[in-house]
Amino acid sequence: MPYDPQGEMVIAFVSRHDDAGWIAALSAAMPTERIVGDRALIDGEAAAVEIVIVADPDPAQLARYRNLKWVQSVWAGVERLLPITAKRNLPLVRLIDPMLAQTMGEAVLAWTLYLHRDMPAYAAQQKQQQWKPRPYRAARDVTVGILGLGELGRAAASRLLDAGYRVCGWSQHGRPIDGVQSYLGHDGLRQVLQQANILVLLLPLTATTRNLINHQRIGMMSRGAALINFARGAIVNSDALVAALDAGMLSHAVLDVFEAEPLPEENTLWAHPKITVLPHISAPTNQLSASKIVAANVAQFRATGVLPLVVDFERGY
Ligand code: NAP
Repeated sequence: MPYDPQGEMVIAFVSRHDDAGWIAALSAAMPTERIVGDRALIDGEAAAVEIVIVADPDPAQLARYRNLKWVQSVWAGVERLLPITAKRNLPLVRLIDPMLAQTMGEAVLAWTLYLHRDMPAYAAQQKQQQWKPRPYRAARDVTVGILGLGELGRAAASRLLDAGYRVCGWSQHGRPIDGVQSYLGHDGLRQVLQQANILVLLLPLTATTRNLINHQRIGMMSRGAALINFARGAIVNSDALVAALDAGMLSHAVLDVFEAEPLPEENTLWAHPKITVLPHISAPTNQLSASKIVAANVAQFRATGVLPLVVDFERGY
């Protein structure tokens, strides 16, 4: 339905995907705002918009919004939007949602258990009709290293501690967390890599974290360790990962994120026996809870002119 301008302020919703569910959820959470899909706005109307809410848009879709005050993402990872918003000095707000953190915590626990309790090996054994119990390790003897102790990393750490795992982690500032051995810097990264039986990636993709898990860093990991990448594909060098899996240096990798998504049909990661491929499902945004959080951000801005916490363009997250 084309937008019928009545002089009121419009918030545009911009996505590469279908808008209907999001527009309904956002409109229900913000009954006094008019939320209109990008496709229903002509260029002149777009130029008057001050706030856009984005869900994995093509960054080029933002070009015709020339008078924006800020951009609200309903995704937590904003690396694709960052260059274009930084260039325009346009405040960018990413989703911080306890529901999202809870979902990610659950996923980290689920796939940690999958690796710890040898599910990939038992699945392979079943195919061969092999009845072969493997040695059991208690959770307290398994160290899970988390790279990135932000909103999601902290929620993951909490679920892992509750389940009895030893947890260590790495962040930019060495953020202290009860029960977690916390590290920072190059030396701290090496210590986490050396200790972890299962390494979980929950870092943002930035200039510093791109290709972080390369041949050299994988070489620092303990023999037989496993990797879970729930962050972004480009943080891991997949050639180095495959080489380490093939050489038996690493035992298994659970990959939820890839440089190209969907993972192309011809990509050899699909069929690798030591790789579990997931279709970017570890922590999907919940439209209902995210819409409430966005509504609170918008209400605060309307009432006070104060922006929610914005992404730091310098540090890249
Ligand atoms: P966040 O709150 O910004 O936390 C990022 C963490 O990474 C912080 O602990 C930060 O350290 C650390 N960090 C960043 N750069 C670093 C560096 N160079 N060295 C060491 N530590 C560094 O982000 P979040 O909400 O937890 O989300 C993390 C990422 O998860 C997102 O960026 C997104 O890519 C991904 N994600 C994936 C899914 C999925 O479904 N697969 C869903 C949502 C999000 P400080 O604490 O010291 O600042």
